[in-house]
Amino acid sequence: VKALTFRDGLKLVRDAPDPRREGEALVQVICAGICNTDLEIVKGYAGFRGTLGHEFVGRVLESPDTSLIGRRVVGEINAGCGFCEWCAQGDSRHCPDRTVLGIKGRDGAFAEFLSLPNSNLIVLPDSVADDSAVFIEPLAAALNILEQISVKNSDSVAVVGDGKLAQLVVLVMAQTGCSLTLIGRHGDKLELAKEFGATRVLRAQPGVDREWASRFDVVVEASGAPSGLATALALVKPRGTVVMKSTHEGSTPLEMSQVVVNELTIVGSRCGRFRPALDLLAGARFDLSRLISGQFPLEDGVRAFEEASAPHNLKIIVQIG
Ligand SMILES: [Zn+2]
Ligand SMILES: [Zn+2]
Repeated sequence: VKALTFRDGLKLVRDAPDPRREGEALVQVICAGICNTDLEIVKGYAGFRGTLGHEFVGRVLESPDTSLIGRRVVGEINAGCGFCEWCAQGDSRHCPDRTVLGIKGRDGAFAEFLSLPNSNLIVLPDSVADDSAVFIEPLAAALNILEQISVKNSDSVAVVGDGKLAQLVVLVMAQTGCSLTLIGRHGDKLELAKEFGATRVLRAQPGVDREWASRFDVVVEASGAPSGLATALALVKPRGTVVMKSTHEGSTPLEMSQVVVNELTIVGSRCGRFRPALDLLAGARFDLSRLISGQFPLEDGVRAFEEASAPHNLKIIVQIG
């Protein structure tokens, strides 16, 4: 199996292990997106070794559930043990024994084939094209914020960061009708955020945290940079909420006394459910393919990763089958 695998470094290999797992579906990957998490794994985050990739669209080749065979699918990335208290409630996202596609104990989507439990797969309607559907995982992750906190249309919300995840957070937050400010570094990305529903965009230049200090009820940190958290803590009002969406290799410095003195609520936020994300996509008036900065074949996967880490780029897609 051809796959983009991380061990000592990132390499295209032609002899990756067959991903087939007993009782699961075998999926032929059509395309897969490179996420900031993938870039962090290459730096050492999560200690993962194996085939990377967790944002994909594919077609089911084999499955014990014959109704899935031949269908175009996306797949939730956490595969639980099936027995613990989390799995018993039908939510494997915090199963202590979970594997996670391309992140933990399970080879991922930058490969010709991948394996996932049948229950993780969601069949795509024809109306949702591959280059929108490939965003379902990060879109679900953005939607998860609204499962965790309530945002009113009278709230002022700031998003720190202007990358691909931040743009999806803007899209989701705009649904609430809140006043929505994005703070970022790149002119073209600030413009895009306006189209995705930001009511105000600010350049992340020195002094901006002071100028806009304590102005926002909710601040979502989605910059992917450790420094984004300090900005978020400066911008949030006393008794406000900071939502943390970025994961980094290593530890993130945090002035904890600010949290105490200002009585802040800090909410960590990771994966979301795909069904509401698919509903949002299927009824969408927005064009997610605008977030795509480049597409590369699997053979050029290493170069695709280099492009994905270039600051001016948004989503890089690896085309596979
Ligand atoms: Zn991701
Ligand atoms: Zn479990």
